[in-house]
Formats: sequence, C-alpha cells, structure tokens
Amino acid sequence: MRPEILFPLFAPARTLPGIGPRIETLVAKLVGAKPGETKVVDLCWHVPAGLVDRRQRPKIAEARDGEIATIEVKVGLHVAPRSKRLPYRVHVHDETGEMQIVFFSVHGDYPAKALPEGSTRIVSGKVEFYQGEPQMTHPDHIVAPEDLAALPLLEPIYPLTAGLPLKVLQKAARAAVERAPDLPEWQDGAWLKARGFAPWRAALKAAHEPQSDADLSPDCPARARLAFDELLANQLALGLVRLRMRKLPGRPVKGDGRLRAKVIAALPFALTGAQEQALREIDADMASDRRMLRLLQGDVGSGKTVVALLAMLSAVEAGFQTAMMAPTEILARQHHASLEPLCEAAGVRLALLSGREKGKRRAEILDALANGEIDILVGTHALFQEDVAFKALALAIVDEQHRFGVHQRLQLQSKGGTGTDILVMTATPIPRTLTLTAYGDMDVSRLTEKPPGRKPVDTRALPLERIDEVVDGLHRALARGAQVYWVCPLVEESEELDVTAAEERHRHLQTVFGNSVGLVHGRMKAAEKDAAMARFEAGETRILVATTVIEVGVNVPSATVMIIEHAERFGLAQLHQLRGRVGRGLDKSSCLLLYQSPLGETASARLKIMRETEDGFRIAEEDLRLRGAGELLGTRQSGLPSFRLADLERHGELLSAAYDDARLILERDPELESPRGKALRVLLYLFERDEAIRYLRSG
Ligand code: ADP
Ligand code: MG
Repeated sequence: MRPEILFPLFAPARTLPGIGPRIETLVAKLVGAKPGETKVVDLCWHVPAGLVDRRQRPKIAEARDGEIATIEVKVGLHVAPRSKRLPYRVHVHDETGEMQIVFFSVHGDYPAKALPEGSTRIVSGKVEFYQGEPQMTHPDHIVAPEDLAALPLLEPIYPLTAGLPLKVLQKAARAAVERAPDLPEWQDGAWLKARGFAPWRAALKAAHEPQSDADLSPDCPARARLAFDELLANQLALGLVRLRMRKLPGRPVKGDGRLRAKVIAALPFALTGAQEQALREIDADMASDRRMLRLLQGDVGSGKTVVALLAMLSAVEAGFQTAMMAPTEILARQHHASLEPLCEAAGVRLALLSGREKGKRRAEILDALANGEIDILVGTHALFQEDVAFKALALAIVDEQHRFGVHQRLQLQSKGGTGTDILVMTATPIPRTLTLTAYGDMDVSRLTEKPPGRKPVDTRALPLERIDEVVDGLHRALARGAQVYWVCPLVEESEELDVTAAEERHRHLQTVFGNSVGLVHGRMKAAEKDAAMARFEAGETRILVATTVIEVGVNVPSATVMIIEHAERFGLAQLHQLRGRVGRGLDKSSCLLLYQSPLGETASARLKIMRETEDGFRIAEEDLRLRGAGELLGTRQSGLPSFRLADLERHGELLSAAYDDARLILERDPELESPRGKALRVLLYLFERDEAIRYLRSG
C-alpha cells in the first residue's frame, strides 16, 4: 500500500490548474503515461530543457538585437493597420529612445487593454532591430509596474508536444512541485553532504527553477540528486528480487557427466574457453542448494546454444527435466532441429511444443511430459501455459532476445515450481550500465570470445540508387554458390506495409532470378514460414527475401551475403543482429547496407560503426551513446527499465554508487525496517517500484 504521504503526488494530473481532459491527453503523451492516467508526480519528473532569462533590464537605447530584455516603457500612439494582414504597432519610449511593440492578427482590443496609451508598462520579450529601429513582437509578458513581482524573471522552458502551450505546462508543473511534500530522507547523510546534495523536495524545486544554464545539466546537484534517487530505487528493487530468489529453496542438481561426454564427443569442434568458463559457473549454481538465476550474455554466433544444451544435459543426467523457451516459432523449431542429432547421439528424449502442436499431438506431448518421458522440451511461450505440467523440471532456459523483463522472469520462476533453476540467454551484448539496471537481480556469465575460424564480414554501405549494381553483383555471387538474405525495410508500426515492401521486392527479384527466390514474412502462416525457411536451408532457394522475422537467431551457415534495404531505418542493435546471420560458415561473407540518401546524422553514424566493427559490445555501447538508454533496443519490447531522470550515459558513475549502496543497505537491513529503511520504502513507492515492496516481510 502506497504511504499516505505520497497521495498528493499520485493524484490525477487533472487536479492541477489548467489541465482539462484535452490537455491531459497531450501531457500524457509527453510524459509517457496512458491517456487519462497522468499523475502529479509525472509532472514533477518532467524537468525543464531550457531557460529564459529576463533579468536583463536595459534602457531602450541599451537593448541589443536578438536578446531577451525586460524594459520599462511609456506607452504612446497605437497604430492599427488597414488590413488584417499588416501588423498592429504601438509606439513606446523611455528617456533614452523609442521602440515599437508589434502584434500580428490582433483580435478585439487586446493591445489597447494591455498597453493603455499614456500608461507605464513593463514589457518582456525578444528585442529585434528592424531597419535600424528596435522592436518587440508579441512580448511574452506585459505588466504594470506595481505587478512586477508577477513577472517571472527566470522562466523554465519545458519539453513540449504539439498543441500544448508552454504557459499551461509551466503553471501545471509549478503547481505539481508545490504539492510535493517534505519526505523523510532516504539517502545517507554523509553522502549527501559530500556531494552537496539538498534534501529531496529542495532538489525537486531547484530542478524546476534553473537559475542558469548550468542548472539544466544532468550533472547539476539538483538533477544528479533526483537521478541518484531513481537509480537507487531501481537497484534496491532489483536487489530485493534477488534476495528473495536467493531465499527460495533450490535443489542441488549435479550430473555425472556421462551424457555430456557423449555430446561433446559428437561435436565437430572444441568448446571455447569462454564457453567452458560459463559452463563452470552454471554448474556451480546448479549444484548449490540455492536457486540459479543467471544471465548468459553473448554476441550473435558466440555459441550459446551448445552451452545451454550441456547445462540441460547435466540436469537430465541427474534424472530431471529441462525446458528451453525461444521467442519465436521459427527459432524454437531451429533450436529443436539443431539439438536433435546431438540428443539422439546421447540417447536423450527431446520434444517440441509450440502453438502449433494441437489436439491429439499436444495431448500426447503433455502426457509424456507429465510421466517424465521427455527430458528436454523446446518451445515458445506455449511451454508455460496453465496445462503444461512437468514431472520434475529442474532447469528452464529462456532465449530471450530482449523480450523479457524482470516481471516476466518472476512469472517464469513461479511457473517453474520450487527449485527450478533459470538461465536467461541474451544475444545482443548490453552495455555494462544497462546490465546492471536491467539484470541487477541476476548473476552474469559472458561469452566474450567467438568460436575460432570466423571470418570478418565485409561490410559496405551503398545508396539505394545503386540497387541495380547490387542485383548485377548477385548474379556473380550466386554463380559462386552463395546464398543471400535480402532484408526489407522496416515500416514503422505497420506490419502490413513491411509485408507489401517484401512482396514487391520478392516479385522484382523473381523476374531476375526466377524460382530461386524465396520469401518469408511475419504475416505468413507458420507452416508456410517453416517451408520457406526449410527450402532456403536446403539450398532450393538461393535468395531469401525477408522482413525482420529472420533477425532472431536463424542459423543457415551456407548463407554468406546479407543485403539490408533501407538500412538507415534500422537500429544499430538490429543491424548487428541481422549481419550476425552471415559469417557463420567457412566462406567469406559480406553485408551490404543499402540506404536512402541523404543520410541523417545518426543514421550515418550507425552505418559508420557497422563498417568499423563487429564487436557486439562496442556496438552496444555506441548504440547507447547514439540513442540514449530509453530507446536502446526499444524499452517496451526489451523489458529494460525506463528512467525519468537518470541518464545512463551521463550518470554511469552514480549508477555504480547506487548499485553498491543498494547492496550495503540490503546487507544491513534486508527488510528495510530501520528508520532509513522505512524512508527507502517511500522511495520505492515514489518511483513506482511497488512490486519490490511485496518481497518484504511486512510489505
Ligand atoms: P548464438 O550464441 O548466436 O546462439 P549459436 O549457439 O547458434 O550462437 O552458435 C553459432 C554457430 O557456432 C553454430 O553453428 C554452432 O554450432 C557453432 N559453434 C558453437 N560453439 C562453437 C565452438 N566452440 N567452435 C566452433 N563452432 C562453434
Ligand atoms: Mg542462439
């Protein structure tokens, strides 16, 4: 239950002045809330991006072109225009000179009311020189001298969205900050002092009332404090999840190595050092009586699947069952297909369960599973539906491809039943900072070394106008026996358009290359997709036109050419994933990035990085730098936490501090019962980590 002290902050934003239903929808969009659900606190976290400084108080003769000035003037003659299209002018002066106040499309008697002839007024706005004369067009503020106090000399500029006036947002944000209560201090006193951080409420106020450009920096004390609060809430929440996991009883699982030995003997290669190291870590976790919650991080092609299989075999040796879940149907089938010969060699019983196993077939699988006649079950999320019951599930492996967040992991855990170890595999390397914020609840193994013998992929960028040359080049590639992926543009939020583009490209390439061109896209029926993939794998089709459905994990080692159309529309992580589909076999591979010119700055930087490196970790770091953490990999899809105040690029050092601090806090006060612990509970609620509080004894 949210503590009462926070109620004012969690009241609907509509209770703020100036926010009606229409404005609320715009504000919701701005702060990332659902329409109708914006809260007061959302406006507190919406900090200014700029500042208008009206403290310059020149005389007219001292005013400078292009500067914001606040000037006391005597109002002279009004000159109304003859035509609506011409400006309305008001002559004003002081003892040093004259100036004109200019209005366009005046309605009613606004200028006459705001600037009565003969009165003294203070006007504030941008001074511009027109034919050598100073003028001020539509002053931001006009007040009588006695109302000077009402004129904001420093105005915060908030990020806006179309249709939302700055003044409305300023007023609402000011009111939101006013409502913020004094909260008990959750930060360590000595740390605050060392950093020069103010108490929470003062910091919040200061963040909304910048006094200079320096106060807009993420590193200024007010913003850094708020960011640190947010990071600490994140780390504490993950820490609580972690603690709870550790407390759940696990079961020691230790194989005798007999199945493993058979599979290793059947492998056409030796394990890399990184694979062996990861396996040792996994083995130790599984053998201990606590639960494993481990992340296996490794670039595309780093060989995670074998590690997963060997881990599963250990459990099978000990008489248990294991499950491996893939994010897509295609990938589940591929995992199944690649595990099959190895499982056969070892005499391990393997089965596949996806949305497509229905009726009798499904019933048979479920039966066998419940009777313990299946050792390894591979599938999609269908694996964890209500009616799927294992006899003795000891290890669940999730090939997550960034589609899982902490919450899904928890769900999985509860599905698994007591003692199930969890191993999550992610394909795109994640920068260290993101690993901490997204997976701080897990232990991490990294496959930093690629299997030997990989040849670098020759990567080039070409403008789309040269597509005909590319097609010509394909003739030569096909003559050499190459197989080619041709990935079609991603059309924002429209699978239908994706598909149309892919179908068109397919038709076009068919006119050139005939029946050796295949097609696979997200709208095809599952069986059609499989068939298309199978024909490509078998080499019956030599060019596979695809939408990004092939992004995830597909493995056809004989494919050596990757062509990405409209590469500028893809994110770095995606481009890297796609390129990872080639360079898997013995032959030299290439990747062509076809782009629409002119290239924007970011897109051009992305393509440059792609040409420079194949190091997934470096690409991930660059992606973070180019896009910001919120957007990296698509926050929603990835389950990565989104931060309101913290900027992982800028606040990396604060994140490490928050990580250490959270560990220390939970070591000393795991139930958050001390006075500081109680304040930290408020912090968790403030940043809506309510879920984490449930793990406390008296949550
Ligand atoms: P990913 O990490 O992307 O899931 P995979 O597990 O699909 O990578 O492995 C990619 C390819 O590398 C597969 O064809 C696999 O058989 C091969 N591979 C895995 N480990 C090694 C190794 N140690 N030496 C050589 N090839 C390996
Ligand atoms: Mg894989």
